[in-house]
Amino acid sequence: MMYDVYNWQLNRKMKYPYPETRPEKQVAWVFDTNKCIACQTCTMACKNAWTSGKGQEYMWWNNVETKPWGFFPLAWDVRLLEKLGGQTWDGDRYAGRTIFEAGEYGNLALGYLPQEDDYRFPNLGEDEVSAAVQDGQYIRIPHQPWMFYLPRICNHCTYPGCLGACPRKATYKRNEDGVVLVDQKRCQGYRECLRTCPYKKVFFRPLTGRSEKCISCYPAVEQGEQTQCVQNCIGKIRLFGFKSRWDQADADNPIDYLVHVKKIALPLYPQFGTEPNVYYIPPVNVPEAFNRQLFGPGAAEAVRQYRSAVEDMKLTGLLMLFGCTGRIVRSFKVEGDVRSGHCIGYDAGGREIVRVPVKEPIVIRQEYDEQRNVHRISIT
Ligand code: SF4
Ligand code: SF4
Repeated sequence: MMYDVYNWQLNRKMKYPYPETRPEKQVAWVFDTNKCIACQTCTMACKNAWTSGKGQEYMWWNNVETKPWGFFPLAWDVRLLEKLGGQTWDGDRYAGRTIFEAGEYGNLALGYLPQEDDYRFPNLGEDEVSAAVQDGQYIRIPHQPWMFYLPRICNHCTYPGCLGACPRKATYKRNEDGVVLVDQKRCQGYRECLRTCPYKKVFFRPLTGRSEKCISCYPAVEQGEQTQCVQNCIGKIRLFGFKSRWDQADADNPIDYLVHVKKIALPLYPQFGTEPNVYYIPPVNVPEAFNRQLFGPGAAEAVRQYRSAVEDMKLTGLLMLFGCTGRIVRSFKVEGDVRSGHCIGYDAGGREIVRVPVKEPIVIRQEYDEQRNVHRISIT
């Protein structure tokens, strides 16, 4: 049996195996793709924290792939996009089918089960640009060949494919924060979750015969701390927090502000229909059609807003807050002017936990240190 549920990312109702329920608050991330340098520090921080055991060697709960040619597992998105068929939007309303509406006979959702070989090359296509660079093209800015880095984790979806299809009801979504987990005692290793997670973020552990996935670092989150992938991000591209319902957005909540108020952070492949909760600021150097396929019809406007963010003091201030504290910021405020203003973050109790300048001060180091009588810069 299928139920009618509302998916705000599609701006319409859709079919799902369970009735609509939404958690009290929803864990959510915003990733600014324009700042990622593919250093993979997030990947290793996650690996060291959660998947360094036997039978977990191939598991990358966090990975960073270079688009358009990078995938983990192999071709995960293009294979599903092809199976799904045409994905058309009527304005901001999705007119195509979701994975739950396109389920093949006997299956609750459309998907495929990756094979062992699909996991063999986790960083395939790294730094490969979209097309061959022609003679003389290097002097033309912007470059025609393009690429960008796409960091990926489980989206802790509102309508998870993994949960919807689990015959054992081993996968569940916590009401207190929307984290999606696999009950290791209930799981029998049927791998329906691997088949129906469109993002391929559930992994089978042969050693235990169970499925495992990102747990949103819940022991840290329960203590008011952001997840490992956020805390360790070198590029300061990530922000973690709690998102409100789409119709109860709070402009003081940093995630709500970016997702619902400014609409500058967008879901990845919303057309799959799982209502994912990792939101991306789209890359500004990528063709509009590609961004639209990945992030939906709001992509061009998000790029435009990002390009002109400098004129928006509140937005600029909030972008400066990314990666500046390990604590979870529940509300924020920007005060002062562009030259001397600050963005201030508060915890759930309204206490100030972080304060960053809207405009980062530039300090130019003197070549010669008179006090110590030394040259600071090698001049030989
Ligand atoms: S991204 Fe995949 S594993 Fe994560 S909640 Fe969504 S469907 Fe499940
Ligand atoms: S740590 Fe941050 S900058 Fe480095 S690859 Fe991960 S998301 Fe990108």
